[in-house]
Amino acid sequence: MCIFCQIVNKEIPKDFTFEDETLVAFKDINPKAPVHLLIVAKKHIESVITIKEGDRNLIAEMVWRAKLLAEEKGLDKTGYKLIFHCGRGGGQIIDHIHLHLRGGWK
Ligand code: AMP
Ligand code: ZN
Repeated sequence: MCIFCQIVNKEIPKDFTFEDETLVAFKDINPKAPVHLLIVAKKHIESVITIKEGDRNLIAEMVWRAKLLAEEKGLDKTGYKLIFHCGRGGGQIIDHIHLHLRGGWK
């Protein structure tokens, strides 16, 4: 089972910044910004490249949650990045769909 499935299923302990029935969010283990969260779908879908139309609402849900988490962290005042790495050529290492929220630079 993939590592993000194991985190979602709580087989690997992880402090969640957020959890609902479709998503979890937690801190990136190797942060590239002062605030670096991953918004991760509970359903195992490999990437934006392979997501099917039936799951398209998930993408909106992930972006919406990132927006709300950014506000919670005060990042809306300074700006932030939302990044989907899509496939190996797009820098994706973990083949379980997730959105990076990065910000908090001075
Ligand atoms: P990506 O390149 O989009 O596939 O990004 C995968 C991200 O997951 C990287 O930024 C990693 O630092 C992060 N990551 C990998 N394993 C863990 C983990 N166990 N907990 C938190 N973040 C992780
Ligand atoms: Zn998975």
